[in-house]
Amino acid sequence: MTKKVMKLIDPYTGLMECKVCGQRHLSSIKPGGGYYRGSWQCTNGCRLEEIEPVLDEEFFERSREYFKKAFEMIKRGNRI
Ligand SMILES: [Zn+2]
Repeated sequence: MTKKVMKLIDPYTGLMECKVCGQRHLSSIKPGGGYYRGSWQCTNGCRLEEIEPVLDEEFFERSREYFKKAFEMIKRGNRI
């Protein structure tokens, strides 16, 4: 199941907002309730997967520390 890119702001009017670009649109509600399939897709074609694989800062911090230590060791090793 794909994640919904649109966030429902107003359930009464069916106003939705894109989580990626902020584009808003009104979706029509089906007679029996619920929304049409296309309602959960951004009119700009945004997809949530595109912004999800973000490298977390903790990983960056850890690898930076690692490289700093490794660099210090190399530097020290070269001087001896
Ligand atoms: Zn969008």
